[in-house]
Amino acid sequence: MYKFKEVPGNRFVVSIANHVEIAEALMAFCKEKGILAGNIVGIGAVSEATFRFLDPATMKYVDKTFSEQMEITNLTGNISQKDGEPYLHLHLTCSRRDYSCIGGHLLTARINGACELLVAAFPGVEIGRYKDPETGLNLYEF
Ligand code: FE
Repeated sequence: MYKFKEVPGNRFVVSIANHVEIAEALMAFCKEKGILAGNIVGIGAVSEATFRFLDPATMKYVDKTFSEQMEITNLTGNISQKDGEPYLHLHLTCSRRDYSCIGGHLLTARINGACELLVAAFPGVEIGRYKDPETGLNLYEF
């Protein structure tokens, strides 16, 4: 599903295997390494990506899937914890064949090519999540 190499500073260079779903692989990696707080950054290419938009006016989620080959121009995310499990918050920006970009809050994305990430772990740091009634979001709890 992935390969990794530890680098100094509690960080890991991670390569996710072709055709694997990114969020699933990152969750498996965080569980394997026991990472409950940290930061993620990366690049790669996908054949499909599903984003989620929260409309603040209606508090409704709108999900949209793009099924086409795209470069990951940036994947940025953070790791916290909820109910003792890693909690990933991922955003993705992709460039299309015409070099225009789309992006948003990432639900799922399937790699078609490569996916090269740097995962920084913050060992011993507790960053939780709580449901905020005003925004409907799972916000940081320190
Ligand atoms: Fe988000």
